[in-house]
Amino acid sequence: MRRQNVAGVKQGDWVVAAADQVIAEGKRRSPDSPLVCASGISPSGPIHLGNLREIMVPHFVADEIRRRGLECKHILSWDDYDRLRKVPAGLPASFAEHIGRPLTSVPDPCGEHQNWAEHFKIPFRAALAELGVEVTEISQTEMYTSGTYREQILHAMRNREKIDAVLGRYRTKQAQAAEDEAEEDKGNEGASDSDYYPYKPYCAACGRDTTAISSFDEDSTRIRYSCQCGHSDGFALSEGNGGKLVWKVDWPMRWAFEGVTFEAGGVDHSSPGSSFTVGSQLVREVFGGQPPSYLGYSFVGISGAAKMSGSAGGAPTPTDALQILEAPLLRWLYARRKPNQAITVAFDQEVNRLYDEWDALGRKVAAGQAEPTELAVRERSMGSATRTLPTAEQVLPFRTLASVVDITTGDEEQTLRILRDLTTDEPLVNLDRARPRLDRAQAWVTGYVPTEERTRVRTEPDRARLEQLSPTEREALKLLLDGLDEHWSLPGLTSLVYGVPKLQAGLELDAPATPELKTAQRALFSLLYTLLVSRDTGPRLPTLLLALGADRIRTLLSVA
Ligand SMILES: [Zn+2]
Ligand SMILES: [Zn+2]
Repeated sequence: MRRQNVAGVKQGDWVVAAADQVIAEGKRRSPDSPLVCASGISPSGPIHLGNLREIMVPHFVADEIRRRGLECKHILSWDDYDRLRKVPAGLPASFAEHIGRPLTSVPDPCGEHQNWAEHFKIPFRAALAELGVEVTEISQTEMYTSGTYREQILHAMRNREKIDAVLGRYRTKQAQAAEDEAEEDKGNEGASDSDYYPYKPYCAACGRDTTAISSFDEDSTRIRYSCQCGHSDGFALSEGNGGKLVWKVDWPMRWAFEGVTFEAGGVDHSSPGSSFTVGSQLVREVFGGQPPSYLGYSFVGISGAAKMSGSAGGAPTPTDALQILEAPLLRWLYARRKPNQAITVAFDQEVNRLYDEWDALGRKVAAGQAEPTELAVRERSMGSATRTLPTAEQVLPFRTLASVVDITTGDEEQTLRILRDLTTDEPLVNLDRARPRLDRAQAWVTGYVPTEERTRVRTEPDRARLEQLSPTEREALKLLLDGLDEHWSLPGLTSLVYGVPKLQAGLELDAPATPELKTAQRALFSLLYTLLVSRDTGPRLPTLLLALGADRIRTLLSVA
């Protein structure tokens, strides 16, 4: 099932612009060649929300191309044949022993999965499915160990001087130096003498890549290497598969092998003299291919990470985000900004604002007042060319849901009663209609709202405070309690709590507020919070009162 093409307006729409470019690039190459968007991720540790951009940027481009009725493949190359470089925070230091081994040869840290790489791939794969992202996975371990790249490896080895010369052109550049520092332990590519080899074998004895090639015989294709562990060995590249091309050569090799027409990369790989520039030269001069159309993407910031309750410390993952953000909203965060702009995923109180903005866009679209670009972004967020993601049948503000589950501590019966009282226009008949957003609100309140910000309703009246009430305060409480039954609805209670100071001033409930009245209102609200939840602030009072129920309010506010 294909839905309507969302390309409305080209100006300012990065997805449309990128898709146009990719389609043009495909036509330039060959009218028959398929369009391929590529992502590459190293499953060396938890795959965080920054890595998700590596997927989402090509995803939106591939999706736009599919919406136009064209074929487009989105491949995810798992760099799982990369060496383990370091043990990520929160995982046992004993894994340091495996540094230098391929990620698929390192044991699983929890014992339930096939290996280290799989342990991190599995939750990420589930998150992609929930986000409606379809990719064709390619395991670099499978590709290398099955000998699929054998011809490419031999080709690179035979052209090692050419590769060395291309790398040499950039080696003096500052950007390159900085990058080499970061990539130091990735391969042999630092050497500038004639011994340069673009290939690194994993040691047959210790399994690590702490090896150096000592010779390569072009006729027999035999290499010899020695390892820091003391082992020396050799094998013919035409027969054995125990190694890989260094990353800077591996990347352009794959562009040619997979026919990649679009790829995105972090800004660190995108500067002049960076891996992308070098790779573009290598793919043309060595592998006879073309570099893909390319976009550099910026950082993904996290607000509220310090308060995270997520597992094992470290940066939050898409799985963590999807516990509190509906999948369409998370897609929207990645779709609405151009890749070179930083984005922020919120885990703190800001999450309320994200939902408000998202809902405001939804209302604008529903009212037919959205700009074409806004409409396209909304459409892209709601799902893909082939799938619409689930959303709540009845959309209630996230902050309301969060307040209610906070007050009821998740009690479903109470939650439904309050939400029904809050939705007088279209009463909520069952909680399922408010899902999945309700579950997100619940997860946020229990997982991310600090204990001191949670609402704890008093179980006993605050007798000390009640005894100190001034005559004005006493009167205010009496007016409030007397009016409860008559005003038992969200609008009713709103008008009552704001209206009590007006009644005390001899005015009508709906009299306009003056500065004096506002001061009196603030004082009353503060008193009510103190008596009800032992703090001077809390959820909106009408919501809180509805949640508590008239009996409990009377117990807590009545002067004995
Ligand atoms: Zn595991
Ligand atoms: Zn070794």
